[in-house]
Amino acid sequence: MDKYGQLLNYIDGAWQSSNASDLLQVINPATAEVLGRVPLSSAAQVDQAAQAAAAAFVHWRRTPAGERVQYLFKLKNILEENFQDLARLITLECGKTLDESRGEIRRAIENVEVACGIPALAQGYNSEDIAPGIDETMIRQPVGVAACIAPFNFPGMIPFWFMPYALACGNTYLVKPSEKTPLTMQQVFRLLDQIGLPKGVVNLVNGAKDTVDAILDHPQIRAISFVGSTPVARYVYSRATANGKRAQCQGGAKNPIIVLPDAEMEMTTRITADSAFGCAGQRCLAASLAITVAQAREPFTEAISEAAVNRVVGNGLDERAQMGPVITRESKRRIESLIGLGIEEGAEVLVDGRDARIPGYEDGHFVRPTILRGLSPQNHLAQTEIFGPVLGLMHVESLDQAIALVNTGRYGNMACLFTASGAAARKFRYEAEVGNVGINVGIAAPMAFFPFSGWKESFFGDLHGQGMDAVEFFTQKKVVVERWPKEWSRRF
Ligand code: NAD
Repeated sequence: MDKYGQLLNYIDGAWQSSNASDLLQVINPATAEVLGRVPLSSAAQVDQAAQAAAAAFVHWRRTPAGERVQYLFKLKNILEENFQDLARLITLECGKTLDESRGEIRRAIENVEVACGIPALAQGYNSEDIAPGIDETMIRQPVGVAACIAPFNFPGMIPFWFMPYALACGNTYLVKPSEKTPLTMQQVFRLLDQIGLPKGVVNLVNGAKDTVDAILDHPQIRAISFVGSTPVARYVYSRATANGKRAQCQGGAKNPIIVLPDAEMEMTTRITADSAFGCAGQRCLAASLAITVAQAREPFTEAISEAAVNRVVGNGLDERAQMGPVITRESKRRIESLIGLGIEEGAEVLVDGRDARIPGYEDGHFVRPTILRGLSPQNHLAQTEIFGPVLGLMHVESLDQAIALVNTGRYGNMACLFTASGAAARKFRYEAEVGNVGINVGIAAPMAFFPFSGWKESFFGDLHGQGMDAVEFFTQKKVVVERWPKEWSRRF
């Protein structure tokens, strides 16, 4: 019997068994063991959650912001108390190492902390005497019911890029986790259930495409935050906005890093290996292409190949593991066939991670770190998100050529530069056409008080997740122009 059984929805402050006839298995990617079964909830269940959230909104929006954030303080505390258990659950269903899972929960909590500042962050502004005796004020009001549609790779963090801000701003909320990794949100909602939020303020509905479509079409859901692959991000953005909703949709990535000859090679290699192979490459900020410039080629190629060979791959629950499995058997097959395609396109495989066998975990979905040298910009692989532990190497002779290569990419999630030159760093920061830039940093993940700023095909929308962008997204501005002639007042 699977340990977690059939997962439940959380609607209107109560746990509910879905009446869905379709259930998917939730699989531990390290062992292929079935952990639980996730229901593909129907449009009727989405409707029930949306109605509950809409009813709760009436009172929640009238609850003072200072009172609303008291729930978030409680949420922070309960997340801290359950920190290790949540990290373990993320590793169990997602495969990443325990350290990576701990980092993920830390990032989730940081967003709760930032959202606790809403009483100050969500203030409006005003101007006296825009005309004699007339004042104008901008106030922010919540949007209504908002929803998050999450990907598999950060099951504990990504809903927190949005939900704490939405709640603090006075909205009510619905989360649809990935059907591949739904256990962590199930547990997070058990904690949410304990902090005493009014019923209907937060809701959890499990499912996949049909459940998403029901969310996108529901008239009472006013705002959609999506994170996932680019084709689905584009689709969700189109359908949500066609239905008159505001939407912020984060998509896929193909992140390049540039290595200049003056880079400190030991640090550069260590950081790049963490970026490319951490979370088994299943991070939207994973380095996927390394572009060496001039004499950087030889030392970097040698060192990164060594780092790839030496990376300890295993079950993420084992503290010695430096890299876990990829999410599904299909992902493993897909990644291995993309490596094959790269070789067919003329790349040379310096380190081959295909057909990995991890003793004791023969059924796990493991791909070892892989290095492909000599990709050309025209190669399919140079433009394709692999979402696995595969780093392609390219080479050019100048920083200008390297930046031009970065800017030919379809995606614009992140690009990084390794150098000791401030002038090179400034030029790169200025010219790179991406939303998150790293200088001597391999994962330019914005802190919770900055927006997570994807560009190009990595993002559809205007306002990003986290920080002030989230406050903007989860509030609508109202402008009040007032005249109070003094002759209307009683004499005092
Ligand atoms: P995915 O696009 O397959 O799924 C994301 C969500 O969309 C899931 O909840 C899923 O149920 C739903 N979904 C899937 N197909 C759908 C469809 N046809 N119609 C409607 N809904 C659908 O993504 P994934 O495989 O879970 O996650 C990996 C992807 O997410 C990668 O491309 C990665 O780069 C991206 N990602 C991006 C960021 C970012 O910040 N830009 C962060 C994390 C992950």
